[in-house]
Amino acid sequence: MLRLDPSTQAPSWLLHGARALKRAGGLALDLLYPPSCLACRRAIAEHGGLCPECWGAMRFIERPFCERLGTPFEADLAAGESGRTISPAALADPPVFQRARAVARYEDGPARQLVHRLKYGDRGELAGPMGRWMARAGAELLDDSDVLVPIPLHWTRLARRRFNQAAALAKAIEALSAVPAETELLVRVKPTPPQVGLTRRLRAKNIQGAFEVPAARRIEAEGRKIVLVDDVMTSGATLNAAARVLLRAGAKRVDALVFARVVTES
Ligand SMILES: [Zn+2]
Repeated sequence: MLRLDPSTQAPSWLLHGARALKRAGGLALDLLYPPSCLACRRAIAEHGGLCPECWGAMRFIERPFCERLGTPFEADLAAGESGRTISPAALADPPVFQRARAVARYEDGPARQLVHRLKYGDRGELAGPMGRWMARAGAELLDDSDVLVPIPLHWTRLARRRFNQAAALAKAIEALSAVPAETELLVRVKPTPPQVGLTRRLRAKNIQGAFEVPAARRIEAEGRKIVLVDDVMTSGATLNAAARVLLRAGAKRVDALVFARVVTES
């Protein structure tokens, strides 16, 4: 006889049944979409990760790095050891944002594939894991911030692509960090041509006047500690331009968190 104790929520056979169903569901999902490496798509054991080769090839950025730019000090190990924390590049040409952090180098390793696949392909699958890595790399920024602001696309580009990868990453980080993402605090008012292939100086010029904080949203920027979110940082021109506009709107501090960054510009 089956006796139901009112203090227990469900009889054990039901719980076992639910668990078995869930297991079967998982198996069915694995059969439909076998787990594959997020970068090279080789088969792996579990969803949402990299194969051992890609993992080994990822050029993760770790300390010692420049506290301002987040660029690794590997070329100048003595600098890291001597306790110097700001790179010569940051001293010579200080960024508008306070600190930048990145998960990995963009130039080599699978970071480039991940960025490309997020932008043009398997979106849902990638934003979560990439956001998880970013939340880890940017932990000290997130610990002391009020709001995440993704770098916006101009509406014409958004209409064409229907997806803003920076917003997807910000949403993924929001879910992990409890720092809210605000996708309309900063808008792109100028449809800038792609920055690819432009010199550092042209990039900065190209992006001038591209961003704006709408008058109705200024109050949300005032006095806030903001973390800008983007997929890639190259010269930093885009993040600097966005930071400048937010600071002008009254933000207390602006940091930058990206998935990958170019460390050595050619
Ligand atoms: Zn792989």
